[in-house]
Amino acid sequence: MATVPSDFYKLKEQQIQQYLHDSIQVPPELRQNVLVTTLDKLYNWSRRSSMWPLLFGLACCAIEMIATAASRYDMARFGMEVMRPSPRQSDLMIVSGTVTKKMIPAIVRIYNQMAEPRYVVAMGACASGGGPFKEGYNVVSGVDKYIPVDVYVPGCPPTPEALIYGMMKLHEKIERQSIATVPWYQEGFSGYVPVPRLGPDIFDPRQVELIKEHTLQATREAAQAAQAAEPTKAAGPAQLSDKARARIEEAKRRLAAKRGG
Ligand code: SF4
Repeated sequence: MATVPSDFYKLKEQQIQQYLHDSIQVPPELRQNVLVTTLDKLYNWSRRSSMWPLLFGLACCAIEMIATAASRYDMARFGMEVMRPSPRQSDLMIVSGTVTKKMIPAIVRIYNQMAEPRYVVAMGACASGGGPFKEGYNVVSGVDKYIPVDVYVPGCPPTPEALIYGMMKLHEKIERQSIATVPWYQEGFSGYVPVPRLGPDIFDPRQVELIKEHTLQATREAAQAAQAAEPTKAAGPAQLSDKARARIEEAKRRLAAKRGG
């Protein structure tokens, strides 16, 4: 018959310590069987212990993310070893790699398809701020310009240890949340993010009014500058060429002849 190790109860007490209720005390004789805790602790513990990442990689950082999930580092310790192939089954998006302007509409669309609660980790310099390609003609200067990011993992690329540390920071963030105040249970809440449009240069539909205002302002300033440079030409009517004048005279003659006839 199996025997209980001598330090079993001590170990158990240590492990459940973080989940105990702050003020309600359980009598010592019941402590081995009864645990009093809060709904928040239970809710946060269950969410942070089973985060399901989306199978999703963009560039070189993705290789480090794959290494993190493999046997040497082992994300299974966090209950997140199986990357899900569908946003509908995932609650964590690890943006691992360079975010291009062509890719960001797809990223935002996938983000919108994930159910709440959902979290985003920007892995590496590229996802966090553009990295070595910042200000490049085809690269977004950070995925947080479009979707909310919870944790940034620095590095180019970050090591698997750094990503694991990022996961632990995300767990800490989840543990600070409360079921009473989390936004996804509030009335009227919508985490929908407008999908950016890929035009001559990509833009965020939320910024439409701002873009319009800046464009009109720039047009006004250009017109004022042109008028200041050539006031007479800008203020007066346009000068017609001889050919145009002759055609107008010809048209007037024909009209007069028609009316007279
Ligand atoms: S941060 Fe560095 S390693 Fe990661 S995708 Fe960008 S260039 Fe590649």
